[in-house]
Amino acid sequence: VKPIKSYDLVIIGSGPGGFEVATKASLKGLTVAIIEKKQIGGTCLNVGCIPTKSLYQSAKMIKEIKEASQFGVSVPSYEVDIKAIIERKDQVVDRLKQNIKTVFDQTWVTTYYGAASFIDEQRIHISNNIDNEIIGFKHCIIATGSREFIIPIPGADLDNVLSSSDLLDLPEIPKELVIIGGGVIGCEMASIYSQLGSKVTIIEAVDRILNLLEKDISSRMKAMMKKDGIEINTSTKVTAIEEYDGMLQVKALNKKGAEVNFNATHVLMAVGRQPNIEHLNLQQLGIDYNRKGILVDEHFMTSKEGIYAVGDCIGGRMLAHTATFQSYAALNHILNDENQIRFDVTPSCVFTFPEIATVGMSEEEATEVYKEDVKVSKSLYRANGKANAMGATDGFIKLIRHGDTLVGAHILGESASTIIHQASLIIEKKLSIRDCVDMIHAHPTLSEVLLEALRGIIE
Ligand SMILES: Cc1cc2nc3c(=O)[nH]c(=O)nc-3n(C[C@H](O)[C@H](O)[C@H](O)COP(=O)(O)OP(=O)(O)OC[C@H]3O[C@@H](n4cnc5c(N)ncnc54)[C@H](O)[C@@H]3O)c2cc1C
Repeated sequence: VKPIKSYDLVIIGSGPGGFEVATKASLKGLTVAIIEKKQIGGTCLNVGCIPTKSLYQSAKMIKEIKEASQFGVSVPSYEVDIKAIIERKDQVVDRLKQNIKTVFDQTWVTTYYGAASFIDEQRIHISNNIDNEIIGFKHCIIATGSREFIIPIPGADLDNVLSSSDLLDLPEIPKELVIIGGGVIGCEMASIYSQLGSKVTIIEAVDRILNLLEKDISSRMKAMMKKDGIEINTSTKVTAIEEYDGMLQVKALNKKGAEVNFNATHVLMAVGRQPNIEHLNLQQLGIDYNRKGILVDEHFMTSKEGIYAVGDCIGGRMLAHTATFQSYAALNHILNDENQIRFDVTPSCVFTFPEIATVGMSEEEATEVYKEDVKVSKSLYRANGKANAMGATDGFIKLIRHGDTLVGAHILGESASTIIHQASLIIEKKLSIRDCVDMIHAHPTLSEVLLEALRGIIE
């Protein structure tokens, strides 16, 4: 029997919930090991945030070429090389993966490759094709992430019915792509592939796409997607997928209960994700969990002292930065450090054309909580000098005020994912709107759209 190596902290999963805090903990003086059963970087780096944003950038380039004549630039022809696009995406991913490995080496984080499962509250079993190993821990952070949820309908297992991971590596551009699910992943993929040249149709079961966002944002985005040639069917429930004449046929029921069919060369299932919690031996260890994920307290500690769980595997808002900051909160608790992270102020971005970004309360939530003491203002990109110069006039910023500060900000428009952080700062630090309005904003910038919305809400 090999002697057991033991660590102050063992992290299971090297996604955003795992890798950053592994190095941080090591720099704080803990002995740290991280266990990964697939690829360093997790979903985010390998089949999530980074690869999609790499493809998004290629799609954006195509959109700009198509619109070049508006700027007095003529581009008579262009070609889309999907293999080169995927190659570029892989290079971006590989570079970032290498960075993580280098940082692990520099900070003495030990990496184990294999699937982890608990033996008891001090030991973890790691198995891969070659070896079995047991390591010990004082503290553990479970950051095992999530995987695609596949709706169990007939035909879900047909060739060319794809998950988002499959689509990211598809060496051809689907001629007709039907996307089941009009959430964030569905809408981002629709935006990318419609620019790449696919005829895209979204089928969404509820009555609007991006239904977790403000109603005015989702309805405006629907109109903009339609303008880009994307067909959107809401209140439509998919019942089956069949093979028909060498094509796929997606069968669904519309709002009136009538059967409708959609032809496709490829189908993307983007109906949500489920936590990776099987095979960890949670039940035997007495760690509570349910269908949505592992249950944790306000410090992200599970029902077992010293064992924490963060990120997609605890359900909730499945975002990379949520996973990372939850992990920081867990580390703070392990180190007895003060925790100041406010999870109610988590920005969330959608990379469509244009981008969407949102933070804090929706108008509906704020009205429910604060009743009459809520004020809403909207400023339009159309009125902004830089937006006009950029040809990016479609969009708005909506701010929600309670008392002297902001409680919510919602942006649809160019660079929304950058501008949102100014609003986040105001909300998180409860800055007075008066002070923010007096802060000089450079001209001409898109940040002035936010300044205008702030001015609008103070009057
Ligand atoms: C297509 C797509 C696009 C996305 N875009 C964005 C975006 O733009 N912005 C954003 O914030 N979020 C985005 N997300 C969500 C984001 O990727 C996740 O929220 C994030 O990766 C969660 O991090 P995590 O650390 O909890 O889990 P993961 O990143 O899933 O990492 C978990 C890791 O644990 C490993 N693991 C699992 N079980 C075991 C085990 N038993 N033993 C050892 N290792 C194990 C897995 O192999 C995996 O590598 C996107 C997701 C997808 C699918």
